[in-house]
Amino acid sequence: MSEDVKGLVMVYTGDGKGKTTAALGLALRQIGWGRRTFFLQFMKGKGNVYGERIAAEKYLPDLEIEQCGRDSFVDLNDPDQIDRTLAEKGFERAKEAINSGEYGLVVLDEACIAMACGLLPTQEVIELIESRPSHVDIVLTGRYCPQSIIDIADMVSEVKEIKHHFTRGIKARKGIEY
Ligand code: ATP
Ligand code: MG
Repeated sequence: MSEDVKGLVMVYTGDGKGKTTAALGLALRQIGWGRRTFFLQFMKGKGNVYGERIAAEKYLPDLEIEQCGRDSFVDLNDPDQIDRTLAEKGFERAKEAINSGEYGLVVLDEACIAMACGLLPTQEVIELIESRPSHVDIVLTGRYCPQSIIDIADMVSEVKEIKHHFTRGIKARKGIEY
């Protein structure tokens, strides 16, 4: 893709399973065309090992995956100070990655939910997106995407739960959930 094509802002939101994995699919497609991807995961900790990170480290040098949360769950109604501090640091990483111009795609995984629960400043995220180097594609994922993000996005897909194995008591599984 030539550098004069303006990048897109894409959102995967909704209550069904498949948002983060859709973003990973897009990353795979981009790196196939030589566009490096920075995949930053808010509210996820480095101690939780995800198959995508193992795969990237082993086989995909053009896919950089980084976590900027803690290992345990965030209380969405009342996040801890540590969650705020980590999200702020993550936001600085996002700025560096986007503004470096080195990446064709920057994914801010779970950024929607981080904004919804007040861990990320929505207006500043919008400013970052709008002032990015023009060739950079951006993907935001997560439940409860704020309306102001939907308004500026080029593409928004809502993944809707029809059913999920979790409700039958099937717990998180390697290769499916992580
Ligand atoms: P995936 O990472 O599998 O693409 P996701 O990004 O759409 O899922 P999140 O909302 O980020 O899902 O939730 C993280 C994890 O919670 C998922 O790995 C997942 O399987 C589980 N999950 C997602 N949707 C549901 C659901 N509707 N009910 C129960 N668990 C869910
Ligand atoms: Mg997700």
